[in-house]
Amino acid sequence: MSLLVVGSVALDSVKTPAGEVTDALGGSATYFSMAARLFSAVSVVGVVGQDFPEEHIGLLKSHGIDVSGIQFAEGKTFRWAGAYDGDMSVAETLDTQLNVFADFDPQLSSEAKETEFLFLANIHPSLQRRVLEQVTGAKLTFCDTMNLWIETQLDEVKALLEGVTGIILNDQEGRMLTGEANLVRAGRTIIDMGPRLVVIKKGEHGALLISEDDVIPLPAYPLSEVVDPTGAGDSFAGGLMGYLAESGEASLDTLKAAVAHGIVTSSFCCEAFSLDRLKDVSRNDIDSRLRLFRDKLVF
Ligand code: AMP
Repeated sequence: MSLLVVGSVALDSVKTPAGEVTDALGGSATYFSMAARLFSAVSVVGVVGQDFPEEHIGLLKSHGIDVSGIQFAEGKTFRWAGAYDGDMSVAETLDTQLNVFADFDPQLSSEAKETEFLFLANIHPSLQRRVLEQVTGAKLTFCDTMNLWIETQLDEVKALLEGVTGIILNDQEGRMLTGEANLVRAGRTIIDMGPRLVVIKKGEHGALLISEDDVIPLPAYPLSEVVDPTGAGDSFAGGLMGYLAESGEASLDTLKAAVAHGIVTSSFCCEAFSLDRLKDVSRNDIDSRLRLFRDKLVF
């Protein structure tokens, strides 16, 4: 089934205890699509500047990702710089340069408007809403957000939540959005804001899937070495939504399996900087790691 993502396509400069990279390929939509392509066809809507290396577009294309919705605009590509310390659970944002994103007005093609599955990856919530308003009959729409928007654009974030089926966010964002320290209560409070599904990511502690009637916990896939967690959240969302698009439905069992696919997909992302590991991952790699993951959970 068709899957569309709108989000950032970026050049990231990242420092972790394992090393650093400058102006490496990144962005929420980039990580999402590189993960989702393992399960389903995926199209990206975004914008880059004239300085964006052609080879990065080539990399996405060579993985079967539809890049026809990526515009080349006058100006420089969105840039994000971040650093991680200690257990690397939280990124410290050192710099955000919106550049071409400042004037981005996403216009979906008629085909894109008919997408069945939509992911509004992390960009300004008003841009997320503009895309949501253009999509006519999506079966499932999920969004992401971040602390920056919760702090500075809370009304926009809340307006967005009224129109989506689900949200995928991390524990810190869930607490910030709701004022609830307890994540189950935070999830329920978010459900009261509009979405019927909430997925709360807890980094190395896994994720919670929360619906009106259920709370389902899943652990993370245990990794002994994390090189760079950038994009883990987006590749989690890509694995989750890619799997849903492949399945074509969203029963509770399918949602549970989708979260497990998100967890396993994102574990690969953390093993190298940028897209360096994720680009070489195959469906077989996912399935083998998923089998190990499932075996660890059975008791
Ligand atoms: P995550 O999956 O949360 O680690 O997302 C990391 C990606 O989000 C990086 O590749 C950044 O380029 C991108 N990013 C960071 N801040 C923003 C922002 N304010 N708007 C859009 N994308 C962002």
